Amino acid sequence: MRKHRLGEWGSGLPPRGNGGHSGVPPGKGILERHKGMLPIGQSSFMESSDFSIVGSGNAQNSCGVWFTKGCLNVEGHRGMTLDGVDMEGKAFLRRVQNSCDRPLCPTCWEKWVGRETKRAVQRLEAFVLKGRHLKAIHVVVSVPKVHYGLSFVEMRKNVYRALKRVRCVGGLMIYHPRRWNFQGSYFSPHFHVVGYGWIVDARANFMNTGYVIRNVGKRKTLGGTIRYLLSHCGISAKHHSVTWFGALSYGKLHVVYEKEHCTCSVCGNKLRRLCYVGTAPLNLPDVEGAVFIDDAVRWIYDPRPPGSSEDVEVYLDRISYLEESRLDRQRCFPRKKRAFWGDH
Ligand SMILES: [Zn+2]
Ligand SMILES: [Zn+2]
Repeated sequence: MRKHRLGEWGSGLPPRGNGGHSGVPPGKGILERHKGMLPIGQSSFMESSDFSIVGSGNAQNSCGVWFTKGCLNVEGHRGMTLDGVDMEGKAFLRRVQNSCDRPLCPTCWEKWVGRETKRAVQRLEAFVLKGRHLKAIHVVVSVPKVHYGLSFVEMRKNVYRALKRVRCVGGLMIYHPRRWNFQGSYFSPHFHVVGYGWIVDARANFMNTGYVIRNVGKRKTLGGTIRYLLSHCGISAKHHSVTWFGALSYGKLHVVYEKEHCTCSVCGNKLRRLCYVGTAPLNLPDVEGAVFIDDAVRWIYDPRPPGSSEDVEVYLDRISYLEESRLDRQRCFPRKKRAFWGDH
């Protein structure tokens, strides 16, 4: 049954689900119609497998803005030292760049890639087969042109089957809708797999299914390979960018991921967004995660609600003005009088 469905490639039948492009020869039509990068939000085409590429969307105002996180728990810092510095009355500070965490954001995509890569490496390294750690392999599975009109889900199903045939045990899959040449990018869907197994009968698989499986070399590190693959992968709101299959799927392998570093190195409290209220000019360098120690009196926890872009001084002035006028109102018009007015 399964064999038969894959065999469609050789049967000359038109592929199913042509994404509404009837009358256009499958494969060729997509290539001719969409050379270069697609604008975001072409919803009619988003239903096809030509997903947007990482970083090709729009940034938000707060994307990439630097700020300081820190801990002002001076009680907890009493009698402690950090790298030989007495922490009495000191604040622990860390520089952070604001990120919207969206892979399509042209400013923040690299952060997204970094975080996804970390998790992927942890998951791959957690896999053990009969007590042994295996060496990861990197293979590319290319979709045959006659299947270019298939939906992403159908393509992926075929790729899973092809991988099973060549005895890939499991791993992660990253989808690339495009390839690049000197003229730009063109639709050429393929899947990158980083996983485990022994690739056998790749040639026979190609003869049967048309899906080309190529074993490509790993970069120097697992992280380097995955980071590179994620840097130009296809992004869809409906599908995860990294999917796990076989022995490494979520149902089969449970991994406890390391928490991101966001606590005070002195007392272990959670770091919070801070505002500088000192008088001397301050220029902390914009280096992600860089740590500083400063007098705690020169800092306050950010009083603004999350996401507010109002200047801190303006915010504090406005809040104290509102509070004062509220008190004034209470002084001028005590509650008793209001009842009196109501009688008229
Ligand atoms: Zn962003
Ligand atoms: Zn602390």
